[in-house]
Amino acid sequence: MSDALISHHAELNPQSGASREPRVLDVVTPDADGNINCDVVIIGSGMGGSTFAHALRDSGLDIVIVERGDFLPREIHNWSSESVFGQGRYRNAEQWLDEANQPFSPGVFYYVGGNTKFYGAMLPRFREEDFAEIRHAEGLSPAWPISYADLEPWYAEAEKLYRVHGQAGLDPSEPWRSGPYPQPALEHDPALAALEQSMRRSGLKPFVMPAAVDYGNGGDCVLCSTCDGYPCLLDAKADAEVSALRPALRSASVRLLTRTTIKQLITAADGRTVTQAHGLIDGRAVTLHAKRFVLACGAVNSAALLLKSANEQHPEGLGNSS
Ligand SMILES: Cc1cc2nc3c(=O)[nH]c(=O)nc-3n(C[C@H](O)[C@H](O)[C@H](O)COP(=O)(O)OP(=O)(O)OC[C@H]3O[C@@H](n4cnc5c(N)ncnc54)[C@H](O)[C@@H]3O)c2cc1C
Repeated sequence: MSDALISHHAELNPQSGASREPRVLDVVTPDADGNINCDVVIIGSGMGGSTFAHALRDSGLDIVIVERGDFLPREIHNWSSESVFGQGRYRNAEQWLDEANQPFSPGVFYYVGGNTKFYGAMLPRFREEDFAEIRHAEGLSPAWPISYADLEPWYAEAEKLYRVHGQAGLDPSEPWRSGPYPQPALEHDPALAALEQSMRRSGLKPFVMPAAVDYGNGGDCVLCSTCDGYPCLLDAKADAEVSALRPALRSASVRLLTRTTIKQLITAADGRTVTQAHGLIDGRAVTLHAKRFVLACGAVNSAALLLKSANEQHPEGLGNSS
């Protein structure tokens, strides 16, 4: 049986070194016709998909997370600038076309955990006004259907899950918050501390960025200089795989399907409900059937999948009113 059909519970990276959690394997097996049935399919295991799975982990719903990428290997190259940037060792996205139809390599990565395997782990909240209508040079960004106040309790939950270190009251544009940051702010290194003092003397208001790392209290973060752009060799960066997916996979009702790319969403005859997702596991056809589908493929790939899912009722693509 292909590794791609294996769903992993708990600590799973087959190439990682010493595991801090028990390793349990489970299996998502399509039937003879390549079908998988469950309650909820989450497409994409990045920040959105993994956090969503974590929120549903105790719901009793049968959840399958579908991820086109594989586990990112933990290896010494994780921290090598030459490997990461010079050789592009982890770049695995296909080329995209720009407005002049010229190919380029997008800055996205297809791995379990999505782009957060490479993110800088800075997790500021949106400002209150970001939820309102905003006029940009390129056009009007409509108001969100929810406000910052609606989301605030969930920001607080997410900051706990992602162990965000910060200090309220320093950033002049920060929105109100119902409580302090779950972790104290990281201290500046000596060079940065001197720069901060100098900026303050000039009347500026520097502040510490909220950082999602496992630092202090026995945590593994060593405050190295390789966070933004690099995978974390120590699993000490609070990325989506480490902080949300692994805990979610401890629930018996959450399973993960890797190396599986969803190619098209299929709607019911009335065109109002998505009922199936067609994809490929290592090149073999698979169809997922569920009551709910959560699209968390990242900003561009979610939109691309909706466009590729055009059908008779939605000739311009699903959810594309404009
Ligand atoms: C170098 C770098 C630094 C960054 N630093 C920060 C930072 O400091 N702070 C911050 O807030 N943000 C940062 N970001 C951005 C942040 O990583 C993204 O905003 C975030 O990961 C988006 O989450 P997502 O779930 O929407 O998508 P992603 O994380 O992109 O996850 C989408 C997942 O879906 C999978 N997928 C895509 N298409 C399909 C398909 N058809 N079928 C199955 N699976 C599919 C992908 O493989 C991927 O795993 C950074 C990004 C990069 C690249």
